[in-house]
Amino acid sequence: MSSSSAPRQLPSLSARVHDLHASPIREILAVVGRPGMISFAGGLPAAETFPDFGLSAPDSVLQYGPTEGDPALRERIAEELADVGLDCGPEQVLVLSGSQQGIDLVGKLFIDPGTTVAVESPTYLAALQVFRFFGARFAPFTADTVSAAGFRDAKPAFAYAIPTFQNPTGHCYTTAQRDALAAACEGAGVPLFEDDPYRDLVYDACERRPVCAGLKDSPWIYQGSFSKSLAPGLRLGFLAASPEFFTYLVRLKQAADLHSNRLSQWLVLQQLESPERRERLAGLADFYRKKRDLFELALERHFGALASWETPAGGLFFWLTLNRRIDTRKLLPIAIEQGVAFMPGEAFYPDSPAATGTLRLNFSHAADDEIDRGLAQLAALVGAQQD
Ligand code: PMP
Repeated sequence: MSSSSAPRQLPSLSARVHDLHASPIREILAVVGRPGMISFAGGLPAAETFPDFGLSAPDSVLQYGPTEGDPALRERIAEELADVGLDCGPEQVLVLSGSQQGIDLVGKLFIDPGTTVAVESPTYLAALQVFRFFGARFAPFTADTVSAAGFRDAKPAFAYAIPTFQNPTGHCYTTAQRDALAAACEGAGVPLFEDDPYRDLVYDACERRPVCAGLKDSPWIYQGSFSKSLAPGLRLGFLAASPEFFTYLVRLKQAADLHSNRLSQWLVLQQLESPERRERLAGLADFYRKKRDLFELALERHFGALASWETPAGGLFFWLTLNRRIDTRKLLPIAIEQGVAFMPGEAFYPDSPAATGTLRLNFSHAADDEIDRGLAQLAALVGAQQD
């Protein structure tokens, strides 16, 4: 991983970002907070007019703030990234309005109609949707097949991967698979966009070192989320990026929403600085580990003869491969009618295959006493299709 500011040739970016310039207003706003500054610039409302929400947060969270995010939060995030091996300064951290926003910004940064993006197959549905919306074509890879030769052939503008507790498969890349992805990016000069929202939901020992941390020369963007470790309604995530991308990403964020919600940023900072943070994360992992184990017992009971799966060492999903290649999209309306919902696997493939016989089951949401009943119903439905 390189965080140095040594000039590198800029990877090819989308046409649209070259027309996007920093807003002069945001630059003025960056200095109006200085003591003694009389500002007739910008459109800051008078702080005296803000309602009293009865918050213990400082009033400043109700005012406009920096696009990059509140400095104390960026610092704290940079410290946490250093702890997991990703050595970057707070000036490389951009606070996001949910990590979904990172996917949108990175899409805008790189993708013109016809641009190739390397993605895992299967991968996160909402990333495929965003990249498709910008006109991407996909070059699929898997943890086992990724190679510099493949990337050299496909010439993707960047590679998007979720190496830790992947969505939808739950797979956690081994050390060898992490090294192979890093080597493919470096060997072919492809920037890596690593999406890591599940890393704190860890139930069994496994390698979780960010792949970006193993890059020496390739430019990179790494992102995380507070949705799973704290609460999704806060809509807060972050990215860290190598210097050549950072300025563009800040401008794209300015254009999108000026900055992320400052009350959420303050709430998240309190959680990150809390002395109980480690204990809370351990409790979270214990809670979900029990849930995963309960779910797997029920899966063995009902799907043992119908499907195979890898026990997820973390994250929120089981990924089932049925013994027969049923199109699970056709099962969904019937299942819903019976009161059970699941995600058909086909939706997660970049090349939209006809039938894959795969499905994604989230184990974190249903109540314990619903899990067995729901899986029994679903298995009966699948079994009926297999006859
Ligand atoms: N990336 C992946 C792989 C996800 O699974 C999700 C949410 N399910 C997101 C990004 C977006 O998460 P959020 O915007 O809540 O941070």
